[in-house]
Amino acid sequence: MKTISYLTLRTIPVFALLSKSTVKVNLVNRSFSALLIICCMPLMALNVLCAFYKRTPALSTISKQDALGRTVSLQYFNHGLFKQSALLFNVVRGELNFSGVHFSDSLSCAKQQKINQQYNSTAGIFSFYDLHKIIGLVAANEEQLLIKQLNSTLLQRQCLIAKSLLCLLFYSNNDDKKLKNNKIINLFDLNIANVTTNEAINWITTHHSFSPKIGFYINVQSINLGLKSSKFMKQLQQADALFSDGSGMRLATKKAGYQPTDNNNGTDMLPHLCNRCIEKDKSLFLLGAKPGVALQTSKNLTNTYPELLIAGVQHGYTPPADNDQLITQINESHCDILLVALGSPIQESWILENRSKLKCQTILAVGGLFDFYSGEISRSPLWLRELGLEWVWRLIQEPKNKFYRYVVGNPLFLFRVYFLGLATKGEK
Ligand code: UDP
Repeated sequence: MKTISYLTLRTIPVFALLSKSTVKVNLVNRSFSALLIICCMPLMALNVLCAFYKRTPALSTISKQDALGRTVSLQYFNHGLFKQSALLFNVVRGELNFSGVHFSDSLSCAKQQKINQQYNSTAGIFSFYDLHKIIGLVAANEEQLLIKQLNSTLLQRQCLIAKSLLCLLFYSNNDDKKLKNNKIINLFDLNIANVTTNEAINWITTHHSFSPKIGFYINVQSINLGLKSSKFMKQLQQADALFSDGSGMRLATKKAGYQPTDNNNGTDMLPHLCNRCIEKDKSLFLLGAKPGVALQTSKNLTNTYPELLIAGVQHGYTPPADNDQLITQINESHCDILLVALGSPIQESWILENRSKLKCQTILAVGGLFDFYSGEISRSPLWLRELGLEWVWRLIQEPKNKFYRYVVGNPLFLFRVYFLGLATKGEK
């Protein structure tokens, strides 16, 4: 009895505080949107004039359901510029926040109920979920991102709005609705699988033929290397699946007229792959990186996923004379999936040369993956990844090694995509 009354006494002020802060945030949102409406008056007047000229209503109301299943009537201008600026009227009325529950997808009824009971929330124009969707980040799931959203501080929400605006500026364009949703897209003469992480993991962990299938991750560096060396480009073309990795590839995908799905880089995919390997009873072999790094990666992975089967590990500096021994070691481990972390273009050449001798089911080229999972190199902070700028972190960590790749390579890639139009032509 004593405990209950103690808890009640302790929780009432917390809820009181929570609702006070929500009211404060709503007031800030509403006042700020009123200010923005005043600033946008000339633009809005122009939109109304356009509608008047075309003899149609100035505003449309579209009903949308947020992730928690609540219907909100959102307002948009029918004509003119920045049609979404009419959403400010929703914010002024307190029906919408600048940052809040997303609209793009819906949670299951059970999850909606659970969250609705725990949180007092409003739908929002910007959300962590939508930000991760624009960038293609797959590290966290929808529910985790929504809970993060609902627990975020005022400063985190302000940063979210700033990041979302930046991302919309760089990664979104007015023609987004016209983008095609193809599963296989041809970029730079390569057939790239434009798939979700789940689909990629399905491909990696299912096996239908006698020889191993090969998957490569294609990023800005692979394209730059391929445009410099036709031999490397031909090697990339021999893979059974090519996964699109990084924000540069997202930009190229959009420029070519396709809607990019998930950013399928090896680092974000590994946790999903480990879980699926446990489910399907598949084992991994880790080949590559400096001595000790693959072993440390294996220890870290088995700490996080105790049921994960790691059939073997080997560093990536075996002399060519000992290659046959290495192949025997891999085959005798009876691994299902071989992860090869030798960096490009060494890993792609090695995989293609040794494919016929290997008895595993799938071989993936994973670059510097083990350096991250062993703790050799730290992963970039989430806020940089949310801006699609993970490469900046890698450049800071290894300025000498990565200078050419990023400082010269990234602008060169963008020049090739936007000025030479090479993403769609696939030629130099
Ligand atoms: N590496 C290797 N053997 C070699 C050359 C490189 O095992 O002969 C390893 C290197 O230690 C590093 C990885 O390959 O762990 C390459 O990492 P990088 O960051 O270049 O790959 P990315 O992910 O950027 O393709």
